[in-house]
Amino acid sequence: MIRSLAAALFLTTGLSTAIVSPLFAQEAIRSKPTALPVNDATPAPKDVPYPGGTIKLEVDASDTTQRIFRVKETIPVAASGPMTLLMPAWLPGNHAPRGQIEKLTGLTITANGQPVAWKRDPLNVFGFIIDVPQGVREIVAQFQFLSATQPNQGRVVITPKMLNIQWESVSLYPAGYYTRQIPVQATVTYPAGWQAATALRGTKSGNRVAYETIDYEALQDSPVFAGRYFKAVDLGKNVTLNIVADDADELEYKPEQMAKHKKLVDEAGALFGSYHFDHYDFLLALTDEMGGIGLEHHRSSENQVEPGYFKKWESGEALLDRNLLPHEFTHSWDGKFRRPDLLWTPDFRTPMQDNLLWVYEGQTQFWGYVLGARSGMFTKQETLDAYAQIAAKLDTNVGRQWRPMEDTTHDPIISARRPKGWASWQRSEDYYNEGLMIWLEADAIISKATRGTKGLDDFAKAFFGVKPGDWGQLVYNRQEVIDTLNGIAPYDWAGFFRTYVDSPTKETPKGGFILGGYNLVYGDEPNAITKAAEGANKMVDQSFGLGAIVKNDGEISAVIWDSAAFKAGLVIGAKIVAVNGDEFSSDVWKAAIKAKQPIQIILKQDKYYRTLSLDYSGGLRYPRLEKTGEGEGSLDRLLKPRT
Ligand SMILES: [Zn+2]
Repeated sequence: MIRSLAAALFLTTGLSTAIVSPLFAQEAIRSKPTALPVNDATPAPKDVPYPGGTIKLEVDASDTTQRIFRVKETIPVAASGPMTLLMPAWLPGNHAPRGQIEKLTGLTITANGQPVAWKRDPLNVFGFIIDVPQGVREIVAQFQFLSATQPNQGRVVITPKMLNIQWESVSLYPAGYYTRQIPVQATVTYPAGWQAATALRGTKSGNRVAYETIDYEALQDSPVFAGRYFKAVDLGKNVTLNIVADDADELEYKPEQMAKHKKLVDEAGALFGSYHFDHYDFLLALTDEMGGIGLEHHRSSENQVEPGYFKKWESGEALLDRNLLPHEFTHSWDGKFRRPDLLWTPDFRTPMQDNLLWVYEGQTQFWGYVLGARSGMFTKQETLDAYAQIAAKLDTNVGRQWRPMEDTTHDPIISARRPKGWASWQRSEDYYNEGLMIWLEADAIISKATRGTKGLDDFAKAFFGVKPGDWGQLVYNRQEVIDTLNGIAPYDWAGFFRTYVDSPTKETPKGGFILGGYNLVYGDEPNAITKAAEGANKMVDQSFGLGAIVKNDGEISAVIWDSAAFKAGLVIGAKIVAVNGDEFSSDVWKAAIKAKQPIQIILKQDKYYRTLSLDYSGGLRYPRLEKTGEGEGSLDRLLKPRT
């Protein structure tokens, strides 16, 4: 809106002779609306059975080239009048509103064959408001879900070899009810000759599988992996490893590899003292075509690893992927069965408050590594190497000086895992690994207080192992965590969490190492985990030293806040062209760092070149754990198999 001050004065002087100051004149031309009341027509969820009855959901998932899911949903209704159909927005395990509403298209709704108009809920774009006509017993919603055809649209879930059905993308549900109160019977048409796995049980007829009627909450929690190349392996204890792969030969494994997966199931049972499922299905995709995922469910988990998971087992290349199954399996107890009270929601529209993720994810990260070691998925040394890498990496996250770890539990909502320019200062989802470090220290404190007779294993049994077989959800708050810990070993646990969780900190807690018989030290050789990470990401990681991660082609992928690299002016995305007059290579770069002299750099940022001097004389720095003292410490005891 453009209007000159002179014109405004001219207009206003005609109205009032009192207007003389320019300030008042400005005020006079600023119109001031009054806020309208916000009218949320969508009913809040009630814990009563959905009165319409069972929804019939038919999904055609046979389009492996254009990757379009086609959906027909028949929704019985008990009454006429306004009704809101919702696509799930807040997704468990994502801890954030990640529903892909933009991919829902072609929506038509009919009743008795006649079209029913819909209107989007302007307060919640995941909602479609309709007016159910008089005398109608059911409505039929039809739509497509346009799954990503390229990674830049989102995660690719269909390839010519495999697919992943996530029910939140291919179904709507009526607002106004706890989703566990809405029964659904789903039928899926798969590509010819494919096999499908899910925690749902069903009846196959040709390419179609009709699944058991189940409530909508459990349906969302029971995704499907299906594939042309498929193998199911019984791991015992009603646990199945369902494998899909890009090629048939990726399905081949050695007996000793599978024995470790079976031991994982046994070790988890020994740890928690119970299983909270009637059956459990690992869904595991060995692929570099379908998009990456590691997502927990109560009776299953979605897991993507790179091809070579079995074939390259000994080479160490697939090492980093081996933490995935132990982590996601742990979630059946920690995260799915026991869930923080403000994170739990009755439907997928209510916002999650993401409290206590340092238990939900942090302790799962902790048990994931412990179970990885106890089952043999990782050797003990590899686990110690991973701990060193984790602790050293956390210490580079200097954002801890202003941002308490507790605040990072909101990061899934704040950042949605978008790339960050200055991650070390911004912090990201640090509740995973810093949670692990806190629980390592808690284990060491309990062990010390009880002369090695107890540890965090006792917490796991007391907190997660209760009510065997229950696959509902049991919510908790922080005080229950503190009370359970005090029941095992009295300590100032409330103060412990205030210090490490609620307050800014100088460094990551390392009591788990120190009390457990180890020190974090640095040397010029990478440990096995750091080496695997450098290999997988084709980079030189000196975030622990001069403060930068540089890819093997010279592109800078991270600069640590306030480090020598930061002070020299390095920035993410820029490319190091030359080092001390030589063309950049990772070897030239490492040799220059090793020389412990100021490094002359030619840097290309977008289309601009700069020369700069990096003043750093600390040499190469890679973290590892070093044993202190003699005999077995609490960290050694923690990693020993229990079966
Ligand atoms: Zn997790």
